[in-house]
Amino acid sequence: MKITELWQSGRKATISFELFPARTEKAAINLDKAIDKLTDLEPDFFSVTFGAGGSTKEGSYNLVKKLKVGKGLEVLPYFACYGLGPTAIIEVVSSYRELGIDSLLAVRGDPPRDVEGFTPHPESFSHASDLLLFLGSRFEDLCLGAAGYPEGHVAAESRDRDLEFLKLKVTNGARFIIANYSYDNAFFFDFCERCRQIGIDVPIIPGVMPIYSVKMMETLAGICGATITDQLRARIATVAEDDKAGLVELGVELATSQCRQLLEHGVAGLHFYTMDRSKSALGIIERLRSESLL
Ligand SMILES: Cc1cc2nc3c(=O)[nH]c(=O)nc-3n(C[C@H](O)[C@H](O)[C@H](O)COP(=O)(O)OP(=O)(O)OC[C@H]3O[C@@H](n4cnc5c(N)ncnc54)[C@H](O)[C@@H]3O)c2cc1C
Repeated sequence: MKITELWQSGRKATISFELFPARTEKAAINLDKAIDKLTDLEPDFFSVTFGAGGSTKEGSYNLVKKLKVGKGLEVLPYFACYGLGPTAIIEVVSSYRELGIDSLLAVRGDPPRDVEGFTPHPESFSHASDLLLFLGSRFEDLCLGAAGYPEGHVAAESRDRDLEFLKLKVTNGARFIIANYSYDNAFFFDFCERCRQIGIDVPIIPGVMPIYSVKMMETLAGICGATITDQLRARIATVAEDDKAGLVELGVELATSQCRQLLEHGVAGLHFYTMDRSKSALGIIERLRSESLL
């Protein structure tokens, strides 16, 4: 099924969970447990990240296969082209197609942080818009999506310029957008409004990132440019530094109220950045379902 069919009118908002391939045996065991618990929530789809430069090529493929073929679940693989040439790109995407994948989120990716002296492939694409054109021409029936940044991409010249490039991604074949997370919905609402104003009319699904730990929150927000508001810092300061469970519970409470507001706004879906964990997503979704919001 093409993922965009999920967002055609007349149904409640979709639920989806982002996963990444495990890097260690222990992480793989935890990931399996998380998948089982998240599957019990009957999400509309799972997404699977792809390490730019091909670092998780095998791991991403295996995870997509496990979910799609092994468990019969709906899967949206991401594909990051950074550092890969056309031949490798075709190889990876063809291997997904052979698993029955018919939707894919195409991103550019970034230079891998853990590979010293990395040099991009000379024929690699500089931007996701070029990758979308390429994939559209090679994989006719593949439903393609793109990444969007409510607060602007970290390297963007300006938010308006970033939005123009997002529009180019849609012109070049993106039929849906999954947004990076923000801790303040005002960014997402403003982003959607600006998208509609310049004629971006595809579904835009907000990303939701519950707080798992302060360190993780700071690190990831630093990488992707999500603002940690003073209000959020003040709430975090009410939890003792060593109270890990208390912080996760606060994260669930905050993300639940964010989701409530997003749903009241009529979003087409909620996309959870799970970090391969299930507890927070479970807590949030159970609360939203108990209020009949989902
Ligand atoms: C939902 C989601 C999923 C993601 N999944 C992954 C993943 O699986 N693996 C991974 O490695 N990374 C992933 N990322 C991160 C992403 O790869 C990085 O944010 C990357 O820096 C940008 O990717 P992009 O596709 O948005 O790039 P682009 O759209 O190419 O944008 C990158 C920058 O270039 C500018 N730009 C865009 N087009 C042009 C153009 N034609 N000319 C000049 N400038 C331009 C933009 O304003 C932006 O600043 C994901 C991000 C999101 C939001």
